[in-house]
Amino acid sequence: MIGRGNSIIVVGGGASGVVLAAHLLKSPNPDLRVTLIEKRPHFGQGMAYSTLLSAHVLNVRASLMSAYADDPENFARWVLERGLVKPDQGPFYAPRSLYARYLKELLDDLEEREREAARLRLIREESLSISPTSSGVEVTLANGTSVVGHFAVLATGHDEQPGAFQGRAIRMGSDADTVLEPEAPVLVLGTGLSMVDAFLSLEQRGHRGEIVAVSRRGLLPSPHRKGNPIKLDIADIPLGTELSYFIGWFRNLIRDNQKAGGDWRDVVDGLRPFNQKIWQNWPSSAKRRFVEHTKAWWDIHRHRMAPEVYGRVTRAVRSGRIRLVAGRVVDIEPDGGLTVTIQQRGTQALETLEVARIYDCMGIARDISKTSNGVVRSLVERGLARPDPLRLGLDVTAKCEMIAADGTVSSKILAVGPLTRGTFFEIDAIPDIRVQCAKLSKQLLG
Ligand SMILES: Cc1cc2nc3c(=O)[nH]c(=O)nc-3n(C[C@H](O)[C@H](O)[C@H](O)COP(=O)(O)OP(=O)(O)OC[C@H]3O[C@@H](n4cnc5c(N)ncnc54)[C@H](O)[C@@H]3O)c2cc1C
Repeated sequence: MIGRGNSIIVVGGGASGVVLAAHLLKSPNPDLRVTLIEKRPHFGQGMAYSTLLSAHVLNVRASLMSAYADDPENFARWVLERGLVKPDQGPFYAPRSLYARYLKELLDDLEEREREAARLRLIREESLSISPTSSGVEVTLANGTSVVGHFAVLATGHDEQPGAFQGRAIRMGSDADTVLEPEAPVLVLGTGLSMVDAFLSLEQRGHRGEIVAVSRRGLLPSPHRKGNPIKLDIADIPLGTELSYFIGWFRNLIRDNQKAGGDWRDVVDGLRPFNQKIWQNWPSSAKRRFVEHTKAWWDIHRHRMAPEVYGRVTRAVRSGRIRLVAGRVVDIEPDGGLTVTIQQRGTQALETLEVARIYDCMGIARDISKTSNGVVRSLVERGLARPDPLRLGLDVTAKCEMIAADGTVSSKILAVGPLTRGTFFEIDAIPDIRVQCAKLSKQLLG
């Protein structure tokens, strides 16, 4: 059971950390102390919002990107007040760098407001470990100091290191991403939204060579379209069934909606408020089958692109600039360049290609026990945390409390954001993160 405490340390000052701090500081409690620790030079950016490329736009429209759960129009107002959109403009997919500016201003305002009361402390340093103490927690920092508080909330988000073919595949924009010959052939591992990001970055740099993008199914995410999400009630949804039954129900719903002139997106979006409940009520067999067999299909329908971006990508596919391959990379040999062997899906056929660069765009989820993040690894190694059963993130309760290797629930160490995927599943995007942060703030502060 979580008790109340005044001093909360948030480890990781990306979007989740900033959104959590903002929700905590809504409390009028004069004794509240929020410490936000971030290893990057800038807060609120993390992996998603540190890009400077204007073509890297949000894949969620501005009207859904508010940092505040109880003020859903906050970001939409922010862009409107700055004259960045017209009042009657359709859906606006802002550059992600603009969203970083929004979070920065939000944090600057909080810092200013809290200066006198000293309720907010920002620390630019890497956190190395979190340990429970008799009265709370101690967080050690890379500069040799430590911070103590009543609670620590882990908000360290995505792994920055590539998960697959380490040493051969690199992350776009990392230090290893040096200048490429414009005509050099490139391999991208993954065909989802991160691949799209990589393509846009390469275009911006004047790259003209072939981009081969490979994933198990070679599927491209769908575009957004203006729609009308269907209205569902929790009582309409078959919770706790096996996956096959649920998918049958879902397909029927789409068919009925299409017969009535609607679009499949209306059903996907109508279901969204219940996705966490659906996930949490599935038996573990259904969760496992979903991750193995259905998730790739779900992802391309649920995580969609801004229509303009979709237009650019599909034109590149039609012109042969991007070649989508359904298959898997079986071997990479450094051989002057890189010699890659791909096995096409459903066949034994092997294709060999020479590329100059391999980008890891396999998505942001990876086995958390193999994380490159020191503070997360240290928690797992000391048995204070464990991977969730599907290894999508860390095992936490529905109240975000960390579950230790021996099953003990921690009242002092908690987690938010994508790290809690195993329990919440639908927890990557801001509309879900802000609700999680609002609930956790209430929980911690009463
Ligand atoms: C490319 C991309 C695009 C996306 N686009 C959208 C979108 O359009 N709309 C949407 O709603 N969602 C989008 N998302 C989803 C995204 O997951 C969330 O919006 C958000 O980035 C999650 O934030 P986070 O703070 O949990 O994680 P991260 O962004 O990974 O931030 C974690 C932060 O913790 C810091 N950190 C890590 N370890 C330590 C440590 N030991 N000590 C101190 N600091 C540490 C990191 O430096 C980082 O700043 C996107 C994600 C990606 C990757």
